[in-house]
Amino acid sequence: MGSATVQTIQKPYRGRLAPSPTGYLHLGHALTFWTAFERTTANAGKLILRIEDLDRERCRAEFRDAIAEDLKWFGMRWDEGPVCGGAFAPYVQSERRAHYLSAWKKLRDGGFIYPCSCSRRDVLQSLAAPHEHLPGSRTPIDDEPLYPGTCRPAEAVVPDANQPSGTTWRFRVPHGEKFSFTDARLGLQSAVAGADFGDFVVWRKDDIPAYQLAVTVDDAAMQITEVVRGEDLLTSTFRQLLLYRALGMESPAFFHCPLVTDENSQRLAKRHESLSLRALRENGADPEKLRTANPSSAGRSRSR
Ligand code: GLU
Repeated sequence: MGSATVQTIQKPYRGRLAPSPTGYLHLGHALTFWTAFERTTANAGKLILRIEDLDRERCRAEFRDAIAEDLKWFGMRWDEGPVCGGAFAPYVQSERRAHYLSAWKKLRDGGFIYPCSCSRRDVLQSLAAPHEHLPGSRTPIDDEPLYPGTCRPAEAVVPDANQPSGTTWRFRVPHGEKFSFTDARLGLQSAVAGADFGDFVVWRKDDIPAYQLAVTVDDAAMQITEVVRGEDLLTSTFRQLLLYRALGMESPAFFHCPLVTDENSQRLAKRHESLSLRALRENGADPEKLRTANPSSAGRSRSR
């Protein structure tokens, strides 16, 4: 009698670093990226560097050039990226508009999105409760407020528009549906659509694809098998799971790194200039020591 063996085909590990060139990288970014690098190495995988520069007003070429230099100083190496190329080029989001447009069209045709004329200020003003914050911090857990539903159609409809420009586009989340995934560090995570997160922006009024859409499309297109990023993005992961489902794409696994803050419980930001990789390097810091730095002594933050 023969016995059937079920073989699971494991895909080769593909991780990514996805910095936005809106400032110099700081120690928080570097430690999150270091985790991505270590997990890739431990899984004998490939690491991708993707530059997320869609926000034209906030991104600058000088920061983009500094990213690779600073990451290399920190000890990181990657296999695919803007300079070294790779099978999934381009690795710069501002050169990938065609990918985002085709996803927008699929979402439109499936009746998943609708045009919205509310400004961010309208949405914030309509909120009854103040924004939720990380314990002891003024940093919001998530920066996309719950949409009150002003422009949300009662039922899903296929919008009559050939291109996204001229208005904001939102994803109509299935109110009341519970979503779960198992995070490789945090374990089971769950959220309810419409309560923990609302209809979110997929295309901005200034004709820029929103972070949620661009990151989902790119992680799928670049065949990323595990996304490593800061836990400030946990709620966004649920939004992205909805996008994977709507677009008929398989979602990667997730590992959300701890968000460690400075001595005032603030996430590291541009104002923490002394903890930028640039400044640390100029002051003669040793990257190897920084990688294992005691969080409280280094004011360490693991953010995206
Ligand atoms: N470019 C995004 C950021 O820097 C990436 C977030 C992510 O890893 O998904 O915040």
